[in-house]
Amino acid sequence: MPAKVKKPGKKRLDGRIALVTGASRGIGAAVARRFAEEGAHVVLTARTAGALEEIDDEIRENTGQAATLVPLDLTDFDAIDNLGQALYERFQRLDVLVGNAGLLGALGPLGHTDPETWDQVLAVNVTANWRLIRSMDPLLRASDSGRAIFVTSTVAREARPYWGIYAVSKAALEMTALIYAAEVAKTPVRVNLLNPGPTRTAMRAQAFPGEDPETLKAPESITGHFVDLAEKSCSKNGELIFAG
Ligand code: NDP
Repeated sequence: MPAKVKKPGKKRLDGRIALVTGASRGIGAAVARRFAEEGAHVVLTARTAGALEEIDDEIRENTGQAATLVPLDLTDFDAIDNLGQALYERFQRLDVLVGNAGLLGALGPLGHTDPETWDQVLAVNVTANWRLIRSMDPLLRASDSGRAIFVTSTVAREARPYWGIYAVSKAALEMTALIYAAEVAKTPVRVNLLNPGPTRTAMRAQAFPGEDPETLKAPESITGHFVDLAEKSCSKNGELIFAG
């Protein structure tokens, strides 16, 4: 009897095109690596080109596949439109959008918040995600199973003193995502929110400088939740997933 040839197992995101914002470090970098391991072709954005190149090197080493790197500042809204155009020309669709990039701004009383910080945090955490929806919606609809995942925070729903603009921005992001979810409900596109919970990253260290990072979970430990929401089989829409 001829020996059975073992077929390599099908990966959960095989053949899917996934755009991840804020992929240069922290949660976005971990999601990028995991999505690539799960068979996706990842398109990675952030401002720090060198850090994106390092993630690309790791992905090549682990999977043999290259990522597409798009260094950009998300407050350059025209660049987001151009990215949509470029993805259309190259792939004619987008299967997964992960709106992960975020900015904490500065913690402090509302009355002491610097107007520039207010505008910058709103631009990155809210307006850029709306511009991504605006630019990527036709591409997500062109996929047989478009998925959008937006990364939020507990403070979106908790009036915690001194977390002003960050909390305000995440509340606005949540409503933006939920409205989008309602708008696409009758299409194959699914849109959900993911709250990572306390995770060992630069942003967490900025918010809690006295905390021992070793007491926090690593970004790699929550990437499975992103895969669940990115899969073709995901039927959730307009839900908030807490990664604990
Ligand atoms: P990091 O600070 O480690 O990473 C933030 C990412 O956003 C970086 O890749 C950064 O890249 C990118 N980014 C920031 N500003 C811009 C910009 N103007 N243009 C393009 N990219 C930008 O944070 P985390 O990984 O912790 O955060 C990821 C998400 O998780 C955020 O939305 C955050 O609010 C959320 N979150 C995190 C929690 C935690 O405990 N860590 C808890 C709850 C929510 P670059 O600087 O290279 O541009």
